[in-house]
Amino acid sequence: MSQSTLKIKPLPVEKFFTSLTINLTNKCNTYCKYCFRDSKKSAKDEIELKDIKRILFFFQKKQANVIELYLQLTGGEIFLYPNIFEIIKLALSLGYTLRLQTNGLLFNKMNHRQLEIFSSKKIIIKISLDGWNSKIHELYRAKGSFDKVVSGIKMEGTPNFRHSLRININNV
Ligand code: SF4
Repeated sequence: MSQSTLKIKPLPVEKFFTSLTINLTNKCNTYCKYCFRDSKKSAKDEIELKDIKRILFFFQKKQANVIELYLQLTGGEIFLYPNIFEIIKLALSLGYTLRLQTNGLLFNKMNHRQLEIFSSKKIIIKISLDGWNSKIHELYRAKGSFDKVVSGIKMEGTPNFRHSLRININNV
């Protein structure tokens, strides 16, 4: 196994940190006109699993006295990251409260066991829509994406889960 080159520096004012954000990948299964991350299907910029694990253990150990420790996972599309469920499970076991930022397009492809994890009270799923209907939403995002996101949000037959929905207000 190759040696990781990631250097984790001591935290300067560690007791004030309560939130950690990791950008897992810049790979994305859709496109948005305003994407500032240059995310696309062919993108290959990903943080290695072993480095993510090291960061999670390091931060959790340093912040052991913090009442609630938040981990936000973002991308690209986080559910394209190959080991995403392993990361989620590890983070939960270490006591993190997770905020999962996703475009919501892949819930329909998940199996029951994968979906079940979202019933954890320690997970908040964040999904953005660019309008209340497909006409407005798809001015900014891929065609057909509105219905896929909405059906993903409904996730019929899945245990209750918490999500926050951000609707961007747009002038058409
Ligand atoms: S869903 Fe997010 S990461 Fe993907 S193209 Fe849109 S803004 Fe970029």
